[in-house]
Amino acid sequence: MKVAAQGEMVAEVDAPSGARYRRDEKTGLFDMSESDAHALVKGGGFFPSMSGATSRRIGYRCTACGFGTYIKTCGRCGSPCEKES
Ligand SMILES: [Zn+2]
Repeated sequence: MKVAAQGEMVAEVDAPSGARYRRDEKTGLFDMSESDAHALVKGGGFFPSMSGATSRRIGYRCTACGFGTYIKTCGRCGSPCEKES
């Protein structure tokens, strides 16, 4: 699952399982096992769906104005958004 580390400069994370994860440069997120992801969140990371940030690869995009969002209704113009794959 994908998780974000606190701070833009974090490029690598050593997880409790012993695995080392590198940040995906396109998304800025770490794709790690569920247990490691939860450990990172406890240590100050966060799940991207809660961060308020948007990404081209995660969440929804407004069909009318192209605004990226994590909810199905555009926060800018109120139009319905389509899930991005
Ligand atoms: Zn919109």
